[in-house]
Amino acid sequence: MENDWNMRTKLVHGGTRRSGYGEVSEAIFLTQGFVYDSAEAAEARFLEAGPDEFIYARYGNPTVAMFEERIAALEGAEDAFATASGMAAVSGALMSMLRAGDHVVAARALFGSCLYVLEEVLTRYGVEVSFVDGTDLDQWRAAVRADTKAVFFETIANPTLEVIDLSAVAEIAHAVGATVIVDNVFATPVFSDAIAQGADVVVYSATKHIDGQGRTLGGVILGTRAFIRKTVEPYMKHTGGSMSPFTAWVMLKGLETIDLRVRAQASGALALAEALQAHPKLVRVIYPGHDSHAQNALVKRLMGQGGTVIALDLADGQRAAFRFLNALKIVLISNNLGDAKSIATHPATTTHQRLPDEQKAALGITPGLVRLSVGIEAPEDLVADVLQALAAA
Ligand SMILES: *Cc1c(COP(=O)(O)O)cnc(C)c1O
Repeated sequence: MENDWNMRTKLVHGGTRRSGYGEVSEAIFLTQGFVYDSAEAAEARFLEAGPDEFIYARYGNPTVAMFEERIAALEGAEDAFATASGMAAVSGALMSMLRAGDHVVAARALFGSCLYVLEEVLTRYGVEVSFVDGTDLDQWRAAVRADTKAVFFETIANPTLEVIDLSAVAEIAHAVGATVIVDNVFATPVFSDAIAQGADVVVYSATKHIDGQGRTLGGVILGTRAFIRKTVEPYMKHTGGSMSPFTAWVMLKGLETIDLRVRAQASGALALAEALQAHPKLVRVIYPGHDSHAQNALVKRLMGQGGTVIALDLADGQRAAFRFLNALKIVLISNNLGDAKSIATHPATTTHQRLPDEQKAALGITPGLVRLSVGIEAPEDLVADVLQALAAA
């Protein structure tokens, strides 16, 4: 029956493990351990735990299992492993499957911490990493070799919202048997069809749209049952990056409303992109879901819609960007994204502050660039707020 449900039904009921009390809202099992009926039962469970048998919260927990089942259904993946943060998911997916001597190809436009893991951590353990411009398929073809073990990229890059052709890169990678790992935060689990399009492993920072209300840090690794249980789980459960039951409960409740929230956020983002076209104070309005985006056709093919984030480039550079940010009344200045509250970020002086100027320029992070994560407020209020702040800039 569960398999026939529509997505919005699965997001409310999928994976539910109801206790003997018959609670309506999912229980938080705040317990580190579990009691065995006998010494023999403990021995048997350590030998092989059944699907609803738990040993220790670092290995698994009923609330965490509910979250894993529900997000796996949303992504269309066989299985999922929940992690303590998005970075625990990124580093866990990579570290669990790679060994010294392996070769990885990654897109250069990455979230700063992802870049650190690939550039500083993996290489320290003898993994060779080649970086490419992810939007240039010829660079992928040139970099992927017979001994390439994995490719890694963000389907939509932060903060300039360039889109990578997932199915084309997957074809190049699969020709040499490499595993395709995508960090899919900007595509969101609602619009993602990454597994059908060729991703073998999908990771999310659940901190973003899955929580969606700015409360907890979390992450998830999704893939085949064999990859999740035989490769990821042993690494995660022994190295300590598992999700806490409390976080899993927050994320589980987030999944109930994620479809409603993300669709509302995407229509708000489109309304803003429309309202800001040809605004005299802007040199660029970047929204993957708008016709004006150079890769709009690719975005429509990959995810149908443009997601929840837009970027604005103010003609007068950093001074204008700061005046704009300081004049916003509804939109908050912060650095999270995917939240119910709209949030504006100045990447050049915050999230990407440490990059050398030439690297910022190469990634399109200009002094006037502002990233706007659109929340669930009324779109007309957001449009009015952004327009009055632009007037003040
Ligand atoms: C936020 C983010 C991460 C890291 O997630 P945390 O939950 O903060 O650890 C990784 N990748 C992308 C694309 C992100 O936006």
